Amino acid sequence: HPAFDVHAVRRDFPILNERVNGRQLVWFDNAATTQKPQVVIDRVSYFYQHENSNIHRAAHALAARATDAYEEARETVRRFINAPSVNQVIFVRGTTEAINLVAKTWGKKHLGQGDEIVVSHLEHHANIVPWQQLCQETGAVLKVIPVDDSGQILLEEYQKLLTAKTKLVSFTQVSNALGTVTPAQEMIAMAHRAGAKVLLDGAQSVSHMRTDVQTLDADFFVFSGHKIFGPTGIGALYGKADVLQDMPAWQGGGNMIQDVTFEKTVYHAAPAKFEAGTGNIADAVGLGAALQYVERLGIENIAAYEHALLEYATAAMCQIPNLRLIGTAKHKASVLSFALKGYQSEEVGAALNEEGIAVRSGHHCAQPILRRFGVETTVRPSLAFYNTYDEIDRMITVLQRLASYHA
Ligand code: PMP
Repeated sequence: HPAFDVHAVRRDFPILNERVNGRQLVWFDNAATTQKPQVVIDRVSYFYQHENSNIHRAAHALAARATDAYEEARETVRRFINAPSVNQVIFVRGTTEAINLVAKTWGKKHLGQGDEIVVSHLEHHANIVPWQQLCQETGAVLKVIPVDDSGQILLEEYQKLLTAKTKLVSFTQVSNALGTVTPAQEMIAMAHRAGAKVLLDGAQSVSHMRTDVQTLDADFFVFSGHKIFGPTGIGALYGKADVLQDMPAWQGGGNMIQDVTFEKTVYHAAPAKFEAGTGNIADAVGLGAALQYVERLGIENIAAYEHALLEYATAAMCQIPNLRLIGTAKHKASVLSFALKGYQSEEVGAALNEEGIAVRSGHHCAQPILRRFGVETTVRPSLAFYNTYDEIDRMITVLQRLASYHA
């Protein structure tokens, strides 16, 4: 891969030098969270050493520095997802908070008895539970788009679910449990033809493919900073301008108001309207640094390298007897979910950990889709651009050994 020097890139991530059980760490738990390059660690540290202040409120120099850094980070997020305006980028705690914010504000205003919300069978619990709660409160009904045996959305079934009752479609661009890349742009257009709004969950997609919210035409797009090499506790909610304008405030407090009397409060416009209280300023700045780092590597270079790694790992895993790959859609990113006959997922995870290889074993907060495939848990290696062919070979060696005991 001429455009991508993985060994140079690895030097940017100090944690990759960690040793676990006497072996160099292999981080294959990227779908849960990603590791942080030194530039992100340094940027957060620099903020606390040179810029720390509350924002937007004071006349002093550090308030101006902190405000500038925070608003520059917002501009970086805007550019990264190609939003038309920084006013459409709201800082939140992460994907979960973003979805809850939309459910509790837009959802409460626009949904009523008998209205329908459509989600897919692939969704993370964060994109199921807030809608269930909203249905309980409003009398709306939750509908589920089925998937085929490869884990891909059944578009004809989806089309049948779209009716005049459909007010919102909320689905993921990449499944965290299977790695399926959904046909998001087409699905969004279908929803719009039915008159529904769309929330696209970008938690698993932003770090693996180019995001262009204008091309996608999503009404809302949400993601978490920690899954794209940024800090935990920070993420973003993008919304179309007219949708945000029409959306009631969520939390009330400082920062989000223009004027308060005991009789009446006048809110700021977005994004301040949805950022009540002191936010996670330092980590927003860290997220900006993470996105700039990804921009420097080039998301297309990342995607091409990761795709080759995924193909290599998939081919090797298919050679292992009694290994069942779960999620075999044609379009996938990063995730290799599997079950190994004769073993609990936790046992496979523990055996890999013995060799310094970190994978997730469990239900991945996506129980419905695993049950669709007849399992409660899987083992889930998930790749990022700092992973290597050698690391995949190390994992395959362990899996071959485990498989051979039950051959
Ligand atoms: N949606 C998807 C597809 C995810 O993978 C995750 C994280 N596993 C979430 C939502 C929730 O993200 P967070 O925990 O960062 O809020």
